[in-house]
Amino acid sequence: MRIVCVGGGPAGLYFAISAKLRNRDHDITVVERNPSGVTYGWGVTFSDGLLDCLYRNDPQSARRIFDSPASWGNQEVHVRGTRRAHLGGYGFAIGRKHLLDILVERATGLGVDIQFQREVKDLSEFADADLVIACDGVHSRVRRLYGEHFQTGVDVGRNKYIWLGTHRVFDSFMFAFEETTAGWIWFYSYPFNADTTTFIVECSPETWKGLGFDGLGPDESIKLLEDIFAHHLDGHSLMNPMRDFGKTPWLEFTRVTNAVWYHDNIVLMGDAAHTTHFSIGSGTTLAMQDAVGLADSLEAHDDLRVALEDYTEKRRAAIIGLQNAAVSSTEWFENVPSYIDLPITQFAYSLWKRRGDYPLWRYQLHLATQVATLRRLRRSVSVLRHGLRGRRRMKLADGRDRVSPARCALE
Ligand SMILES: Cc1cc2nc3c(=O)[nH]c(=O)nc-3n(C[C@H](O)[C@H](O)[C@H](O)COP(=O)(O)OP(=O)(O)OC[C@H]3O[C@@H](n4cnc5c(N)ncnc54)[C@H](O)[C@@H]3O)c2cc1C
Repeated sequence: MRIVCVGGGPAGLYFAISAKLRNRDHDITVVERNPSGVTYGWGVTFSDGLLDCLYRNDPQSARRIFDSPASWGNQEVHVRGTRRAHLGGYGFAIGRKHLLDILVERATGLGVDIQFQREVKDLSEFADADLVIACDGVHSRVRRLYGEHFQTGVDVGRNKYIWLGTHRVFDSFMFAFEETTAGWIWFYSYPFNADTTTFIVECSPETWKGLGFDGLGPDESIKLLEDIFAHHLDGHSLMNPMRDFGKTPWLEFTRVTNAVWYHDNIVLMGDAAHTTHFSIGSGTTLAMQDAVGLADSLEAHDDLRVALEDYTEKRRAAIIGLQNAAVSSTEWFENVPSYIDLPITQFAYSLWKRRGDYPLWRYQLHLATQVATLRRLRRSVSVLRHGLRGRRRMKLADGRDRVSPARCALE
């Protein structure tokens, strides 16, 4: 089959790898507008669930991904730099650029043709393709070309955010809320390699305007953020990836949904098909799971239409829970002032359960986590559990090319 992926992000590259592993005869081209090694953003989080999936699907790239990530065994919530609570939890992150480098190398090794610095304007250039995959991200041009077929819904969030980095490395995943004369502003941060941390700042549009960000240049904006969060940054600066282009990348989150995911031989995947708010850190995971799901469906069905229907149906069902959680989480962050005056332990718990309700024992565990010895105990149990799970998946994948079936597209 001749397949063209428009977009060389995690979705496009991981699909190319997964499809080639299932059928070496596929002729796959990935078309990416950026030069090789150039991308946006800093680190992205992922969970054991995704790692299990990657090990089952392609142990070779999974080993390299797992060799690299930073991890944390606690989350901390700070308010005004003086009140602090703990959330526990465990997670991993990897630099987006590093992840893409690994995927590019693996895909190339499997014979995928990756064409960098080629921007797709319309699909006439791919008239000979059996399948065109629109994996060109949240603002997908391909999706917009066929908008009336996909019945796309686009909602723009209220809050302003900016995705920065810093060399201040925190031990934990951090949420820190600061009060300014113009209202509340906060950051979430997590390390993604030995010396770099993702640092996402968010605030309401009123606070953003009130602080004068609408009139500030890139260096002035960063300086103001460094002043606001000086207490946490401990003398480190914030890094703005767009500085050299004279831009400050303040954005609003764009929520994308599509009633229909394919049209003729064109199918949506990753952020082009659906987005989930970055506060639940799942977009890359969903994009890579879509990729495995589509490769599975193409392997299972000779008829393209049946395969695309199968993919759509399964992936829609798989993502619905996270999409709902992402909406709840977005709303929580849009209503920070309603919760911020709660006692810190309750505030932190409200932040924890922003994705939905949890059973009562979760709250008891949260209270226990505030006690240093119990927190250390929880962390040790968590490290042990994650270590065992890691060893199990490595053993499962040991010496194999692919552990079939990947199944992760449904988890
Ligand atoms: C602030 C922030 C934090 C995030 N944190 C996390 C996190 O912690 N964990 C997580 O899992 N996810 C996170 N995400 C989400 C994640 O970045 C995306 O969901 C993920 O990158 C989607 O992958 P994709 O391949 O679908 O799209 P993308 O990664 O956007 O890739 C699309 C590619 O298509 C290319 N392209 C676009 N148009 C064209 C064209 N016309 N021609 C050729 N190429 C084109 C682009 O250059 C790009 O390389 C975060 C997102 C944001 C904004």
